[in-house]
Amino acid sequence: MADYDFDMLVIGSGPAGQRGAIQSAKLGKRTALVERKAVIGGVCINSGTIPSKTLREAVLYLSGYRLRSIYGESYTVKQHITIEDLLIRTEYVIRHEIDVTRHQLQRNGVEVINGEAVFVDPHTLRLSLVDHSGERTVTAANVLIAVGTEATRDPKIPFDGQNIFVSDDILGIQKLPRTLAVIGAGVIGCEYASIFATLGVRVTLVDRQRRLLPFVDAEIVEALDYHLRQNRMTLRFGEAVSGIELAQNGGDARVKIRLVSGKEIVAEKALYSIGRTGATGRLNLAAAGLQADERGRLKVDENYQTGVPHIYAAGDVIGFPSLASTSLEQGRLAACHAFGVPAKSTPELFPYGIYTIPEISYVGKNEEELTQANVPYEMGKASYREVARGQIIGDSIGMLKLLFHLETRELLGVHIIGESASELIHTGQAVMSLGGTLDYFIRTVFNYPTLTECYKIAAFDGVNRLNG
Ligand SMILES: Cc1cc2nc3c(=O)[nH]c(=O)nc-3n(C[C@H](O)[C@H](O)[C@H](O)COP(=O)(O)OP(=O)(O)OC[C@H]3O[C@@H](n4cnc5c(N)ncnc54)[C@H](O)[C@@H]3O)c2cc1C
Repeated sequence: MADYDFDMLVIGSGPAGQRGAIQSAKLGKRTALVERKAVIGGVCINSGTIPSKTLREAVLYLSGYRLRSIYGESYTVKQHITIEDLLIRTEYVIRHEIDVTRHQLQRNGVEVINGEAVFVDPHTLRLSLVDHSGERTVTAANVLIAVGTEATRDPKIPFDGQNIFVSDDILGIQKLPRTLAVIGAGVIGCEYASIFATLGVRVTLVDRQRRLLPFVDAEIVEALDYHLRQNRMTLRFGEAVSGIELAQNGGDARVKIRLVSGKEIVAEKALYSIGRTGATGRLNLAAAGLQADERGRLKVDENYQTGVPHIYAAGDVIGFPSLASTSLEQGRLAACHAFGVPAKSTPELFPYGIYTIPEISYVGKNEEELTQANVPYEMGKASYREVARGQIIGDSIGMLKLLFHLETRELLGVHIIGESASELIHTGQAVMSLGGTLDYFIRTVFNYPTLTECYKIAAFDGVNRLNG
């Protein structure tokens, strides 16, 4: 390895790159991390996960939404919420997260280079430095491609970042709209649609599919569907978009969205959210002996190795599940494998968090999957209304559902909708990863009053169902 400048060169400073670089450095390897933006942190910190979750929290607080069931529908913390109100909180969190990440990289001795990496050959990369001071050519024994994704754009749509925008543009929006069309009801589309609807924006959500989030348990999706409509959102399913144009209405811009069915949606702004494409377009992959698929993604094996053994890929650039949580773990595992260090992980049992309003989280199988696989199962349900904590926090709509094996009572899946779903899920995840059964919840004493008590109530409900 001594002939190379670095033992590991990581491209991209999102979760996969950060964790891959830190793991390499912790193993005593000479590690560099290259980032083409002036700031580190990737989509996760700068334009995706952290901004969306902070905006959501700011909206929930300022709109008073969480306490409306207690104080009434008109309850609000601030009457006229502006984009500036929301950005204050977002910018504060982003700045802090960048700082923490930079400090972690520094502390571990990772050399951070702000430049765009392009392959020259499988071990050599040319870096165009972002401060315009020129180029640098570096060689590395191993390379980890962690370049993430960019929002997919249709070249026929006149994106201007203000009226017609993608989620990557969200922090640049200068004014909150009165009406918004969201095209694409994937996780990102649903999250933003529900955040804007909670602000009082009239949202229309359009998707080709016949239901929301087809990979989520149908009963949970039904509940989400109901609450989105309660929040005055219009859901248009089974509808394809045939054209989007920007028009003028007096002095104001309006977006017109034409649907194949002949309908037209007119809104002040439109969020186009039909998926993300791997950011491999400018890497000159051919020089490394690699090729991306039609969506810019790279294929890897179970060790995150591409077809070229010393080149690894991790994070969103390898596709599903495209989460910050799994990207972190993939980066770590790739670095361990590159240096022959055994690493244990159970990434297949990862929880999914969907930060719509209300929030959803699940782990394991859903009812449709178990039915399709002919697994005999039973369920147990609890509503947040049944536990004192649900009343205290004013969440009367939450629900937790356990799915367990009919004979062994082994826990097979947990599905939650409601406040703190993405935190609560980890109790179920721990029980599942230890091969636990429904009886764990029956035998265990939980803090009172907590939402976790829903696990116990759901377990008793499950046992009652077994007894008929
Ligand atoms: C709106 C939104 C909300 C999300 N919410 C969640 C959530 O709640 N929970 C969750 O787990 N996940 C969430 N995600 C997904 C999460 O953000 C991604 O899974 C995660 O950021 C992927 O990490 P990554 O390391 O693969 O890449 P990224 O975070 O995309 O970072 C890649 C980095 O590589 C850099 N780069 C690209 N090409 C080059 C090059 N040639 N040279 C140098 N640098 C380069 C880019 O500039 C970028 O900084 C969300 C995503 C979006 C868009």
